Amino acid sequence: MCTTVGTEEIIILSDDEDCEDDISCNEPSVLIVEVEDVKKSGGAVPPSALDEDLVITFSRRAEVLPHARYDCPIHPFTPTDCEIGAPVAANQLMCDQCFCYICDKLASSCEMWCHSGVCHCNSHKRSEFWSNHRNCSLLGGLKTFNLTLSDIDSHLRQAEMMLHSFRLSLATQFSSFLMGNMLEQYGVSQSIQKCRVFDYTPVYEFVSSFLNKADKQDDRAAAIMRLGAAENFLLHFHVSGTFILQSPMANAAEAKLVLLQRVIASVQRQMVMADFTPEFIHKLQDFYKRFNFPTELKSMKNSLTVRLWDDVLLVSVLKGQNVSGIRKDKGKKDVLVEQFAVVLLRTELLQQQHRYRELCRYLRVVETDDSKLLQKVQDLIPFFMCMAGDLGSALSSLLPSVNAPASRFTPQLFLFYLRVFKTATAPKLAVSQPAQLCSTDAAWEPIKDAVPLSHVPLVRFALRVQRCCSAVFTDSQCWTTLLAVVNTLAPLQDPSPQFLQEAKDVVTSILNDQHGSNIQIPRFFQTVYPDQAMLLLVTGALCLRILSAPLSPALPVLNTFKENVWALGWLWGSLSSSPERLRSFLLEISKEMESTTDGDHLLPFLCTTVSTWSSPTDNWDQQSSGPLNYL
Ligand SMILES: [Zn+2]
Ligand SMILES: [Zn+2]
Repeated sequence: MCTTVGTEEIIILSDDEDCEDDISCNEPSVLIVEVEDVKKSGGAVPPSALDEDLVITFSRRAEVLPHARYDCPIHPFTPTDCEIGAPVAANQLMCDQCFCYICDKLASSCEMWCHSGVCHCNSHKRSEFWSNHRNCSLLGGLKTFNLTLSDIDSHLRQAEMMLHSFRLSLATQFSSFLMGNMLEQYGVSQSIQKCRVFDYTPVYEFVSSFLNKADKQDDRAAAIMRLGAAENFLLHFHVSGTFILQSPMANAAEAKLVLLQRVIASVQRQMVMADFTPEFIHKLQDFYKRFNFPTELKSMKNSLTVRLWDDVLLVSVLKGQNVSGIRKDKGKKDVLVEQFAVVLLRTELLQQQHRYRELCRYLRVVETDDSKLLQKVQDLIPFFMCMAGDLGSALSSLLPSVNAPASRFTPQLFLFYLRVFKTATAPKLAVSQPAQLCSTDAAWEPIKDAVPLSHVPLVRFALRVQRCCSAVFTDSQCWTTLLAVVNTLAPLQDPSPQFLQEAKDVVTSILNDQHGSNIQIPRFFQTVYPDQAMLLLVTGALCLRILSAPLSPALPVLNTFKENVWALGWLWGSLSSSPERLRSFLLEISKEMESTTDGDHLLPFLCTTVSTWSSPTDNWDQQSSGPLNYL
């Protein structure tokens, strides 16, 4: 085969199959011929050499590239199965490009070339004996991971070297821990200075610094270093002196736990997030399972048993083909149970990849060792539905009939969702629990394919949340924000007195209808004055809120009626059904007005009303018709 590389040279690759049967064939595997030299020496082509496919235009002895000894084009090689005593035939001969198959370095620098008992010059790749020998010698410490030479790259080789020197130093560190220190080094009183004290801290710090180095390596190398280190420090044990140090990592057993947790967390993360092949992950898992776990760490024996992304059950759940998380296969039952840490990792990765629908399917069925923590992540399903662009489904998933995520809302979380639904935008961030949604500085961006919800579903959503979540029902800010949705900045047309009158009964019946968690708004109520109807519905709910308990601060809530004073009048009318509460509410407002410096923005209407109604010398009965004049 002939290939032109650039314009300078031609690489001739021999077809390996051709000399398969003849190991001593003299053809080197690769020759590089420099074209420029050739042109000078190239002569006329004899007609007999012309061939349809190939024309030989020059002939020159090729430069020999590095090769294994058994491939040497200069010195014939005689293969044998496992001759180690002495060179067979002329196998000890070498050219200056001959490499030792076992050491992977120039034959001239191999110290075992003709060494009786290990005679490397006889080695070749078609002998099982020599191949195994090569693997052991080249894999070194990596052999215990069951890695093969094809797995190995320069990063892994580097990891192996670091691991090797780590092991040597660790042994020294641990033996000096076992020797203990005299107490005088710790500056304690004379009487107990002769006691020995055993401090694991330096060993812990040494292992930690090695793990720090691992963090900076290529993914596979890092995994090998972490697990290789764990295999070693797990063998450590604690020695108690009469005097016990209180520093946290002085005790070997406790330090080992901390170190192992760190290793597990890092490797788990890699198994989920890194681009490892299934084979490589299995090798890591098998290696870990062979560890000698002390009794107190036995519970961590299965910590690296992580499902691969191509796991049949996991894939079918993600694709929506399995909605139970249970798979029966030949009488065996497979349940999608994962460690909580793994659930978090998958949640993180699927968010990164914008696979929100798959993430929701996964979270709905996965089971884990910590159901409380899982609940927090599952409470994010509505957010992920939003991010998938489906605000309607997100809203429904906040308010199922049982165990509604909305019942666990904080006021901030309610305001968060209200904003998402109203604007179809969301902060760009990856989260693992709902509280993070409210404490972010991330910029809000439009959600792909999402359409903002109109007033009616927004109001119904808010009223339903108020029913199931007292934190939201109580909170003044939630009311202000909801009222700002229905009290549009432009004033709404005053509805007819008849509509306002009839609205009282309609609103009361909507709010009192407790059948199911849904809010049924009759269509006739929305026909003539649809926006006004929504405003009155929320105002009616506010009336119930004010009647139930003090609302503080109340002024920002009432200020949202700035452009729709008629609705505030309607509220006053509704509140007057409970004169005592109305009076105390007015007192609360006037106190709030006295203490606020922001009086300029208050409604003149509110000021006059409140000052009239809250005057202690005024008689209630004489005033009762005052604000109702607005109706
Ligand atoms: Zn050679
Ligand atoms: Zn060698």
